[in-house]
Amino acid sequence: MTDFDDTLPAPDEFDIAPVRLTVDLGALADNWRDMVRRSGKARAAAVVKADAYGLGLEDCGTALYEAGARDFFVAVVQEGVTLRTYAPDARIFVLSGIWPGQESLFFEHDLVPVIASEEQLAFWMSLLAEGGDHPCALHVDTGFNRLGLPFADALALAKDVSRPASFSPVLVLSHLHSGDTPSSPLNKAQLDAFQEVSAAFDGIETSLSASAGIFLGPEYHFDLTRPGIALYGGESVNGMQPLRPVAKAEARILQIREAAAGSTVSYGATHQLSRRSRLAVVSVGYADGYLRALSGSGVPLRAGGTSGAYGYIDGHRVPIIGRVTMDLTIFDVTDVPERAVRAGDYIQLFGPDMPLAEVARAAGTIGYEMLTSLGLRYERRYIYPEE
Ligand SMILES: *Cc1c(COP(=O)(O)O)cnc(C)c1O
Repeated sequence: MTDFDDTLPAPDEFDIAPVRLTVDLGALADNWRDMVRRSGKARAAAVVKADAYGLGLEDCGTALYEAGARDFFVAVVQEGVTLRTYAPDARIFVLSGIWPGQESLFFEHDLVPVIASEEQLAFWMSLLAEGGDHPCALHVDTGFNRLGLPFADALALAKDVSRPASFSPVLVLSHLHSGDTPSSPLNKAQLDAFQEVSAAFDGIETSLSASAGIFLGPEYHFDLTRPGIALYGGESVNGMQPLRPVAKAEARILQIREAAAGSTVSYGATHQLSRRSRLAVVSVGYADGYLRALSGSGVPLRAGGTSGAYGYIDGHRVPIIGRVTMDLTIFDVTDVPERAVRAGDYIQLFGPDMPLAEVARAAGTIGYEMLTSLGLRYERRYIYPEE
């Protein structure tokens, strides 16, 4: 007797999604372990701001925690509150610091504000005066001019004997602005400045390097490193091979069109076909973070000098033709055998076969922006290490 079920199986959303994203959590965990190893004597934190660089805080945070990460950095307090669920006993640092009204979020969820301005420091001191003794971290500016106490003020604070005893930062950090360019002499200037800060705050843990800084050498490691983009398979040092790819973005081909030589493609008719062509009309556009600057032509603001991005299908790199539109992008698949590319197939936008950094460069941007721009339409699939 055969056992049969007369209901049709529900289609797996992933198999029919217009755009889909596969996140390899095993690769993410491997990349973190790799950064731990490269951090030498320092511990490695995990930076998971902006929804883990667009790849999903819940799944990525959990995978990093399970891999052993116990220090995390987020940008804003709400990210810390979310992460606390998945990283119960980790230290969670909030890089943008604390505002009046956020005290209870920080205290209830045991989050560590990174004090990053004179105003925040004054506010923090006023909280301590009320009798709190919650831990904080200090960000000291060594040349970025973004966040951080001014260098001289930080040195003065370190030497200030009148500061309350309950003011006891658990970490002093700074951030390199040119870590991605190892030849820049400005890295050494920031290192020298930070060494002075580190000496002034004797006995307190210190942290200087994000992903790129880790590659600058052991003197840049201090007590704690803060890798972000490298964990997610992005390029941290310009031109250097990234670690394992973590994200694969794909979009579905809606139709294959035959188009005559001399006809034009997409808005503005900025691309005229020089030959009879087969075009794949693909279900992804700038609303999905597939940036308009990736267009094959017709983007006057792009300065880079490249002619647009490529997708990947069945061993072939296929160029974008004309402008990327909100929901649709057109690729030239004339050189791909007809049987290898059909309506319903998926084109890889970036991933193991189409490097994220290369796609980003074609748009005149960086992998960070591509990942954090992924829109809401992606159907996501997470691959767990044991699968
Ligand atoms: C974003 C950020 C990081 C992580 O940087 P990556 O280049 O992604 O490794 C580390 N520290 C600070 C202060 C940051 O803002």
